[in-house]
Amino acid sequence: RFISLEGGEGVGKSTQARALADALARRGIECEVTREPGGSAGAEAIRGLLMAGAVDRWSPHAEALLFAAARSDHIDRLIHPAVEAGRWVICDRFLDSTRAYQGVAGGIDDGAILALHAFGSRGLLPDRTLVLTLPDEEAAARASARDGAANDRFGLRDENFHRAVNAAFRGFAEAEPDRFRLIDATGSKQDVTDRLVAAVADWLP
Ligand code: C5P
Repeated sequence: RFISLEGGEGVGKSTQARALADALARRGIECEVTREPGGSAGAEAIRGLLMAGAVDRWSPHAEALLFAAARSDHIDRLIHPAVEAGRWVICDRFLDSTRAYQGVAGGIDDGAILALHAFGSRGLLPDRTLVLTLPDEEAAARASARDGAANDRFGLRDENFHRAVNAAFRGFAEAEPDRFRLIDATGSKQDVTDRLVAAVADWLP
């Protein structure tokens, strides 16, 4: 099984990716936790190119190509082999982050992003995409508590950008209800993990 975990800044994706893997391990399911951009040596090198420097270091199209290249390597080197070996993969961000950040919020056409994904990654989609959702104000407060004034490691983007990202994820979920589940990310860490486990309960032994 291949699960992606999505959401805007400050919703707790990384923490919950590990917590979900631990909860599944207690049920006897071996999980590989990984993240995008990154997850393989080549993709981590591309992550370094993307994360260093100002938000506008790359042209929007170059940025979309770098994300697609990183994802291609990550899938070939890590995700695909792990799934083939029978492990579950939990990926902190995947294609839908590129569709939300570079696409809806960044202005790149969704069809173009999907075309790059078809070329680079044979169109591989997660079996399920869990989107952690918070009210915009709470997400902004949590993100700035984590990262300080620059609540976005890509540099300072404005509130409208993050609102657009959050709205984009909700829109994807509406358009593809079979693949997506919206998960309420309010409450305690354990509450959220319980909701994530419930969202894959139909796959549990
Ligand atoms: O996953 P995390 O929240 O740590 O993401 C690191 C940074 O990369 C964030 O600032 C996020 O806005 C940015 N990002 C992006 N486009 C993506 C994925 C992440 O701008 N497709």
